[in-house]
Amino acid sequence: MAELAIGAVVERLDIERAWLVDPVSWREGPGEIVVRGGRLESVSWLRGAAARGVRPGGMLVLPGLLDIHVHLREPGNEDAETVATGLAAAAHGGFTTVAAMPNTSPAADDPAVLARVRAAAAASGSPVELLLHGAVTAARAGERLAALGELADAGAVGFSDDGAAVKTAVLLRNALLYLGAFGLPIFEHAEDPGLTAGAEAHEGVVAAILGLRGWPVAGEETAVARDLAVLAAVVPDAPAARLHLTHLSTAPALDLVRRAKAAGLPVTCDVTPHHLALTDEWVAGARRWSWEALDGDGAVRDPWADGALVAHPYATAAKVNPPLRSAEHAAAVLAALVDGTADAVATDHAPHRAVDKETEFGLAANGISGIETALSVLLAAVAAGRLPLLRAVAALTTGPAAVLGARAGRRGAARGLVEGAPADLVVVDAGDRWTVTADALRSLGKNSPLLGRDLPGRVLLTVAGGRLGYRDAGAA
Ligand SMILES: [Zn+2]
Repeated sequence: MAELAIGAVVERLDIERAWLVDPVSWREGPGEIVVRGGRLESVSWLRGAAARGVRPGGMLVLPGLLDIHVHLREPGNEDAETVATGLAAAAHGGFTTVAAMPNTSPAADDPAVLARVRAAAAASGSPVELLLHGAVTAARAGERLAALGELADAGAVGFSDDGAAVKTAVLLRNALLYLGAFGLPIFEHAEDPGLTAGAEAHEGVVAAILGLRGWPVAGEETAVARDLAVLAAVVPDAPAARLHLTHLSTAPALDLVRRAKAAGLPVTCDVTPHHLALTDEWVAGARRWSWEALDGDGAVRDPWADGALVAHPYATAAKVNPPLRSAEHAAAVLAALVDGTADAVATDHAPHRAVDKETEFGLAANGISGIETALSVLLAAVAAGRLPLLRAVAALTTGPAAVLGARAGRRGAARGLVEGAPADLVVVDAGDRWTVTADALRSLGKNSPLLGRDLPGRVLLTVAGGRLGYRDAGAA
């Protein structure tokens, strides 16, 4: 393995006495895998003496992860990220498939843009599979629909005006009706721009004390309510219409989805690692996990009274849309993931140039470079007893694969750890830690609020479609 180049077929790999997690069969336990000629030749589950001492806190073997919401910035902003650096970052994070958002410049509202991005992926030599979302409206301008049928024929896996919600209810209705014929989802960024214009941080105590303009919960809740009402009206005429609400961050919005699902509406949603593990306190300078910011009764502890503020306030790396919320909302996000209301974890990986972040808080670009830290953040929640390991892995594999349906591809996220298939897996040492530094991140975007922090879960090896995606320099 030592001399193997990125993209080369993994001819021989033997992982002995590891903790295997297969969310397709909903099974985890001690086991071993053998890869020969890029194929997963055998998956053995160990019992008895052979299994002794193998723990979920050590070496893990998971199916390759799938991220359904990333920004790769090419074409148009290659100083922030390129397809090549984005795919390298994905592999470092354990992801073997990613789906890129269309808010590039020009926007992916035309099959020619999809072809251009695909060519960049092929030229990168990365074995990470790149899926593409198309825009809902031409140039994402919210005035008329993009060429949805052509984009669907060109292989778009979903449609989004991400960065903003689909501007009007009638555009959303028409897009749902049209895409219902293809059974393809609209990935909706739920935000009412009237309520969030000029907003800087989650509306609450932290924003008030720091003098930042509040970003109300209602800005997300009303948008979700609108979208669900439109979906309910469309479904009788377009039963295969699909609405996917991305990066939900608030308790009321998740409650709306919970009820809509119970009522049988074809809606799914994802949440991000940062909204479940980080809080608005991070803008003030706290660096504790969301579950450490609540007292025994579930109330938010005062970070000023607690002495929890350990970093400078107004850190623009913590500025993101939707904003980091209070710990109560983060707890609701985590609860939604545990109970299945949230179908997936998606990173909303949003790399930015330093110059776009190194400015005053209100002017700084929104977004977190997060694809390389996502698995570690979830493993931190697992280690804290807040999230079952199988659920965490499912949220990064089978959950997002189900959101994309047939277009999710046939890699590990959809198939699980299956003998005979091309090896598509990640080996991560949950018992080892790594430090998030600018050098450690393969992404050009160093805009992570986790910079300088030690995280659990070092990715040792990512095998994507039978080929080498990433290998830790220290791995044997
Ligand atoms: Zn968004």
